Amino acid sequence: MDPQLSAQDAQQALRERMRFYRDLGISGFYRRPVDEAIWNSPEPAAEPRAATPVATAQAPASQPLIPAHQDQDMAPRKPFPAPPPIAPPTPADQHASALQIIRNEIGDCTRCGLAQGRNQLVFGDGDPNARLFFVGEGPGADEDASGIPFVGKGGQLLNNMIAAMGLRREQVYIANVVKCRPPANRTPEPDEAHTCSPYLFRQIDVVRPEVIVALGQTAVTYLMGEKRPLSAWRGAVHPFRGSKLIVTYHPAFLLRDPNQKKFAWADLQIAMRELGLKPPPKA
Ligand code: URA
Repeated sequence: MDPQLSAQDAQQALRERMRFYRDLGISGFYRRPVDEAIWNSPEPAAEPRAATPVATAQAPASQPLIPAHQDQDMAPRKPFPAPPPIAPPTPADQHASALQIIRNEIGDCTRCGLAQGRNQLVFGDGDPNARLFFVGEGPGADEDASGIPFVGKGGQLLNNMIAAMGLRREQVYIANVVKCRPPANRTPEPDEAHTCSPYLFRQIDVVRPEVIVALGQTAVTYLMGEKRPLSAWRGAVHPFRGSKLIVTYHPAFLLRDPNQKKFAWADLQIAMRELGLKPPPKA
């Protein structure tokens, strides 16, 4: 970190760096003295990843670089509430109406603080009988304005990812962990995610997709009810509520670091294999 940075700038820079690492699935940071940090090389990783973040020794131990109340990534882990029991299957011709019942139940929701800042609630979008279900984190500005998930830049990338799989967006279903936009697109707080995710579980139970793709850390954390690095989830098929869960990077992260797209494509190929899909011939 630049020694010329003010303490405030350094905190901000470190917060951004932590968010970046979180997107990569790297968590559980700890401090170690600078000398040791310089000479110890990071453990070999199963996939390319950034070097382990190192706290400098410039701040005394009594003065954390990021005050605990400002750093979500270092917050102590609370137990996750048990997920709702899996609902019995809905007949295929009733999926659309069953989803509408859930939407009506949510109504003009004020169950958590996110209601205050939203313009529109973003319920979900796509084929109620989809074989493939994408789960994101929460609406951004474009989604909040339109009421439709993944319509901004990240949505364009997701559309391309779907097309690369040989599907059209209308053939899949897309929803988020939280249905209202968090202020300034911050990560949803656990209480917000826990309040909203039961509706996502119910949407999944209605659609009953063969494959679910969790986009990023927040999605997999609240689906699986367990916080692990993204690298621990990726590359495998996880049984989830009668579906197969596959984990990849969030499109927003891929926009920030396009070099990771090839790894996301490898994840999507696992999903394609499970769905028996072959990529479309190159135009
Ligand atoms: N990011 C998400 O996680 N979901 C959206 O709907 C849009 C952006």
